[in-house]
Amino acid sequence: MGKALIIGAGGVSNVVVHKCCQNSDVFEEICLASRTKSKCDAIVAGLPETKTKVTTAQVDADKTEEVVTLIRSFEPDIVINVALPYQDLTIMDACLETGVDYLDTANYEPPDVPKFEYKWQWAYKDKFEKAGITALLGSGFDPGVTGVFSAYAQKHYFDEIHYIDIVDANAGDHGYPFATNFNPEINIREITSNGRYYKDGEWIETKPLEIKKTYDLPTIGEKDIYLLYHEELESLSKNIRGIKQIRFWMTFSEKYLTHLKVLQNVGMTSIEPIEFEGKKIAPLHFLKAVLPDPASLGPRTKGKTNIGCIFQGIKNGEPKTYYVYNICDHQEAYKEVGSQAISYTTGVPAMIGAMLMLKGIWKKPGVFNVEEFDPDPFMDALNKNGLPWHESFEPVLLD
Ligand code: NDP
Repeated sequence: MGKALIIGAGGVSNVVVHKCCQNSDVFEEICLASRTKSKCDAIVAGLPETKTKVTTAQVDADKTEEVVTLIRSFEPDIVINVALPYQDLTIMDACLETGVDYLDTANYEPPDVPKFEYKWQWAYKDKFEKAGITALLGSGFDPGVTGVFSAYAQKHYFDEIHYIDIVDANAGDHGYPFATNFNPEINIREITSNGRYYKDGEWIETKPLEIKKTYDLPTIGEKDIYLLYHEELESLSKNIRGIKQIRFWMTFSEKYLTHLKVLQNVGMTSIEPIEFEGKKIAPLHFLKAVLPDPASLGPRTKGKTNIGCIFQGIKNGEPKTYYVYNICDHQEAYKEVGSQAISYTTGVPAMIGAMLMLKGIWKKPGVFNVEEFDPDPFMDALNKNGLPWHESFEPVLLD
């Protein structure tokens, strides 16, 4: 059916490549390109037999012209960006120049200030419309499936959704005293930033990890959850009818938080460059270099993740509640594709988004977040591609 150019060769990319190769009828050909070509070759070497034709290439995606050259030589139908958020705009520019559809899993971030805002990418809407191509933003799990869950709840169960609580729980244990489950820089920027949630048309700011609750999650049990800002809150607050409040919660263990506090207190989580032995260096970049590579956690991580959305609203004038979530097992993900559940839960939805775009099911000119498309084919594909979901109409509510 089509050709995909996949940019980035980290943990998420490994899953995307495996999953595309499991769907060879849709992904007939893929080119895996990244800054370090040997990482692409290592991913390809780990693939089981597949009908998909796979090649690799070197590209510095910070440079639009390099991406343009690669697109012109490979001629893909879609570019799947699973590099880092810093490359979103340069890759979108290359897609515009060549007239190719675009997909990513995280919003653009300026390298020097953590922002978590869609404004830079939403500003491309007119250009993508005029070029007649589609950009699908945030097609991972959160953002991604959480937006699909919200669109599904809105379509099938509610006239108006008033409250959404997104709960992202990871009960996995990798056995290290401290490591991050995906890119340490992006992860630590997210957690050490102020919290924020949407209430009655306003954004309420909190100190980092200031608000904590405990929540009894299906399958994984009671966990401490902390309120964070997360990028899908911005798009869902605009795209969901009647919304009054949206919050995002994530689990952290005591051990993780103690390490993080020490690292913060000594200045290691800062992205402000310091002078060291005649060189400018951002402490967080150095920290990334000494922490375990998230891709190496796969074989060691045991346990499960549970990520889902709790909705409250009205249907036919009556109050209604709904909870939809996925459970993913770290070891099973590793057995299937050689990555732990965090990469798996991001890579599978990226493949599904790209599959729906290639099939022409999710395709219209412009720049869109996932909740702006029909959720049904995506929900169906989650069940068929390793991320089955479960639902409850009597969830425990967060106050
Ligand atoms: P990794 O750090 O493991 O991989 C990133 C890859 O991008 C590396 O191969 C890196 O190459 C490559 N890269 C970095 N800069 C460039 C560049 N200038 N040109 C070409 N390639 C480059 O990250 P993950 O796989 O963990 O995460 C990938 C993306 O997924 C991130 O944007 C992350 O924020 C997002 N994510 C989204 C989630 C969601 O649910 N929506 C959840 C988790 C992650 P090199 O090795 O040479 O540095």
